This record gives sequence, structure tokens and C-alpha cells, in this order.
Amino acid sequence: MQFDPFVIPFNIGLYFILIYAVVRSVRWFSNLSRPDKLRLQRGFFGSAFGRSLKEIFMESLIHRKILKANFRLGYMHMSLAFGWFLLILFGTIEADIFGTRHLNPPYKAIFFKFFNPDHGRTGFEAVYSFLMDLILAFILSGLILAVIKRFSSKVVGMKKTTKLKLPDKIALTSLWLIFPSRLIAESLTSGVYGTGSFLTGSLGSVLASFLPANQLAYPFWWLYSLSLGTFFLLLPVTRYMHIPTELFLIFARNSGIRTGDQSGAFTEIQTYSCSSCGICIDACQLNFSTGITNIQSAYLMKGIRNNEDVNDIAFNCLMCGRCDRYCPVGIELTPIRMIRRRAESVEPPEKSLWSRYFPDLIKIVNTRSNGHPAFSWLPQIKTEATEVLYYAGCMTHLTPAIKKAMIRILDASGMNYRFLDEAGGVCCGRPLMLAGKDKEARELINFNSGLIRDSGARILVTSCPICYKVFRESYYLEVELMHHTQFIKMLIDEDMLRLRFLRKKVVYHAPCDLGRGSGIYDEPKDVLRHVARLQPTGFDDDDSLCCGGSLGNTRISYRQKNKIAADAASALTKGNPEILATACPLCKKTFTTVTDTRVADIAEIVAEAIAPNPPELKKHVVKELYREPADMI
Ligand code: SF4
Ligand code: SF4
Ligand code: SF4
Repeated sequence: MQFDPFVIPFNIGLYFILIYAVVRSVRWFSNLSRPDKLRLQRGFFGSAFGRSLKEIFMESLIHRKILKANFRLGYMHMSLAFGWFLLILFGTIEADIFGTRHLNPPYKAIFFKFFNPDHGRTGFEAVYSFLMDLILAFILSGLILAVIKRFSSKVVGMKKTTKLKLPDKIALTSLWLIFPSRLIAESLTSGVYGTGSFLTGSLGSVLASFLPANQLAYPFWWLYSLSLGTFFLLLPVTRYMHIPTELFLIFARNSGIRTGDQSGAFTEIQTYSCSSCGICIDACQLNFSTGITNIQSAYLMKGIRNNEDVNDIAFNCLMCGRCDRYCPVGIELTPIRMIRRRAESVEPPEKSLWSRYFPDLIKIVNTRSNGHPAFSWLPQIKTEATEVLYYAGCMTHLTPAIKKAMIRILDASGMNYRFLDEAGGVCCGRPLMLAGKDKEARELINFNSGLIRDSGARILVTSCPICYKVFRESYYLEVELMHHTQFIKMLIDEDMLRLRFLRKKVVYHAPCDLGRGSGIYDEPKDVLRHVARLQPTGFDDDDSLCCGGSLGNTRISYRQKNKIAADAASALTKGNPEILATACPLCKKTFTTVTDTRVADIAEIVAEAIAPNPPELKKHVVKELYREPADMI
């Protein structure tokens, strides 16, 4: 037998989704900017192609990152994705080897047992049947976990899962029916013909012993085909669109395409790549410290996909980057949130069926403005020429102990330095950016940039990680930028600062904007190891906790911020350290109010450790430290 009408739903669904994936990919490609198109073309024919295939295998099929973060959840995803892939792969080989001819249409592989019911009795055929049963059992084990997770997410180690819309519910039901209907259809057919292996063969003989297996098998083959067809047809308008989209995302990312600061095709690709796995919900401190469970990135992605008003979600966030760190798909969640903060509104979506399958790129209508277009009141300041320019930042001015410590360190180093903002100065612009006011922030950036340029400084040092991040990402400076922990490390390495060992037990809290935001993890710890006994906390490096004092969230109350800070401080000081060290004035201020442990910035600890009568220091190395201007940012 070569064909049966029950395969029609599957065929319609399969050819629809294949054509759809091609058309949608072409649309995404044509909506990319010209440089991004070139990047993708180069990536497709270069080394990025191999990297992408490897990533697709490791992340889209094996789900390595989810496995590492949560084994049960990872197993569930892996068994469904990798298992299905294996079933298709080995099913195609099975149809090719054991079928009546080579190069069969896809339905022959999917419904192989129906068209070859007496296959698998002896020899190699029986071994192959065993393999196919094993793969099906693997998938079904993951499916059982998925069904349980829907009703009790704790079973897979999660506190909360995302809610489903009607098309998602129908697609999910179809997905859940695919493999059980295949199991029963194959088992009943095997029961009639005495074939099948340990799963379908055993179940088939039991079912055939008390049921009319011959009559029942056919409706289950129909159910199997209908489930597949329905799932494929609904896939583009449901969360399962992440399956094909993630492949495109991986190629685009490995080709060097990044989010930038504008909404566009790459942003859309990322929002559709979100698998709604919910890992970002569990990683978010707003969830586990304050019980806020509706603003996490999973909801942001879902809201953007559905063209909903996500204003509150975008602003109710600490911008700590923990969700970026944990997202197994690698979506640049914080930059996408920043883009949404800049958006006053988005064009209302069309409601037609066509637009649900082929949505237009989301168009941001207005960008926010505070109605004061110019900062003409900014003072005319003249900076004197210097080698090192120190920018304390507003938060450091509000935390004078850090400023004093930095003055001690700079004096002890013997370097020629000046303050950029000794009398208070002008903000770096980051808070305005976090509020979505980019144009206004740009005015502050231009003002500060002029001062920095005029100073002729070779090194710009800042104590505030928030300032450091904005200097790094939004200023265009011909100066070597250093956070003060990097600067102190350099002074120690070059023997320009002699320090005593303080013998204190310290733990280090990596500030979000310094660690996850700027990738600086080692220098602060190296400095601490030089002067104290540094202990691990269990929340180190990119797993660091947010202090809760973030300027990025103006929606939560002071009480909620305190709760986040208290929970984080108690987790960090479990080992009873003498000092909770940090490298950010805002973190210091926030933690100080919620813990009895002494909280100190690394600069303060270093200032305490400065040797009282240091021997002659090597000041001649100062010039050699500088990089050539061409290498500078
Ligand atoms: S944003 Fe990432 S972590 Fe969050 S639900 Fe989507 S894929 Fe999962
Ligand atoms: S950035 Fe931090 S606070 Fe915001 S959603 Fe992600 S984990 Fe939660
Ligand atoms: S980021 Fe914060 S500390 Fe730094 S200058 Fe701006 S407001 Fe001040």
C-alpha cells in the first residue's frame, strides 16, 4: 500500500509549515539592516556556520544550558526535542532501508508501521524496531513530565510556569496527543500482526487480547495524523514558533548581529525565539524576594509578540541582567527592555488572520520626551590637563567614604590626577537612559565628553559601575576607561601601591553593572585576595544577586527594595564574613541599611591597607602603562 487518506492532514500541515518557515525567514532577512544582511551572508559561508550547527545541536536539541540549570526541566525539553529529531531521522532511514523503495515521501517514514505492518519480526528488523521503541519511550518519558509540569510546576523544580492563550492550548493539546496516538496506533497494528518491540509489541499484544485491535488501529492513525497537522498549522501563531525561529536566531547571532538600541528584525526574531520555558521567572529576585511574578522577561517577550501594552512590564525591572544570564536561548533581554522603555507607544496591531501569521515589524510611534529639549543651564567648566581623570559619579558623592578612599589611593600612587566632578559635576546620563529619555541623556554625554577630551587624560577612572557601563557603551572616548577596581589592580601589579595584608574574612558581591553588565569579575577579586581572606558566597560572578537598590526600577516600593536587599545580604553573609565587600556606591548604600555585617567598597578596604611608610615606589612605569591612542576606546 502506498497511500491512505488519513495521511492528508499531516501532509497539509507539513508542507504548510515548511513553506511558511522559508517565507518568514525571507521576510526577516529582508527587514534586517544592510550591515546585518552582510554579516549574515558572511556568517552563512564562514566559520559561523559550523558554530551555529554545533549550537543548534547542543542548545536546541540537547538543551545543555537548561540541563545544567535544572536537570528535570532540561530532560523534559531534551526528550521532546532530541527524541523527536531522532524519531524523524531514524524513521526516515527505516523507511529507506526497509520500505518498498528508496527516497520516500515524508509520510512514509512517519507512518511506517501502517504501511509496513509485518515489519520487525526477526534479525536486523527486530533490532531496528527495538531502537524505534526506545526513542518513542524516551519521548514519552519527557511528555509525562511536561503534562505533570502543566499542573504542578514544582515537579520539574519550577515555581511558576507561563499562562497559555487559546491557540497555545490547542497546539499544546495536539502536541500532547501526537506521541500517545502514535504509541497506540503502532501498538494496535503490532498486536494484529504480532510485530513491534518491547513497547509497541508488548502493549499491542495486551490490547489485542481484549480489544478489536484491527478496527481500532485505523482511527488512531487518523488521530496521529490530525494531531501532527493541527500542530504544524497552528505553530506560527503560538509560542511553538520558537522552534524554527531559534534556528534563525542562532545563525544571526553567530554571524555577529546584535540588538543595538532600535527595534527591528533581530529584536523580532529574539522575541519569537523565547520558548516560554519560564527559567527567567525563577531567576528573578523580584519573584523570589517580593512575590512579583508578572513582569519577568517571559512576559515581556509574550507581550511584545502579542503587541500588547508592555509599558509597566518594561519599567518594573531592576535591570540586573540575571534573566539574560539564565535565558537558555541567549536572548538579549535587557537591551530589548531598554528599547521598550524608550517607546511611548506602538502602532496598534491589525487583527486579521493574515497579520497573525505574518505580523509587521513592531513600529515604535513616539520616543519619550520630557519637554525640555536642551540642557543649556549646564555650567561652563574648564578641566585642567592631567594624566588620570577621576569621575566619582553622583552616588559616590553621596557615599563620601568611597571618595575619600579613592583620594587616598590616588595620592599614594603618586600619579597626576584630577577630579572630573569634584564639586558635584554632571550625571553620566545612565538614569535618564533607564527612564527611556535617550535624547536628554545624550546632552549630558556630550557635555561630559567635552570635559574629558579637554583634560587630555590618558586614563578615566570611575567608582560607579553604572557610570562605567555608560562610559563604555554610550560615550566615544579616546581614553582608557577603568573602574576603580581595575585601576587599583593595575597599581598593585605595577608596584605603584604597597598594601598590608589585613587578615579579614571578606565576601565579595559583584555589582550587576560591573559583572554581568560589563564583564569585570576578576580584578575586584584579585584586589581583595591581595589584602584579605576572600570567601566564596555561592552567588559569585555571573550568578551574583542584585542589591535591590537599582536605579532601573521606579515601580517598586522602598519596602520591596529593602526586602530584596535583605534577602541578598543574608544569602551573601551566610558564612559570617567580617566584611561584605562590593565595588559600587549604590550597592554599598543599599546593603548598609539591611545587614549588621560591615559593608565596604573595595576602595575603602584598600585605603585601610595602604602601608604607612611605603618604600620608594616605581613611578617611572607610569608612562609605560598607557596604551597607544589607537587602541583606546
Ligand atoms: S526569555 Fe529566555 S528564559 Fe525567559 S522564558 Fe523566554 S526563553 Fe525562557
Ligand atoms: S533584569 Fe533582573 S529584575 Fe529585571 S526581569 Fe530580569 S531578573 Fe528580573
Ligand atoms: S550613574 Fe549613578 S552614580 Fe553614576 S553619575 Fe549617574 S547617577 Fe551618578
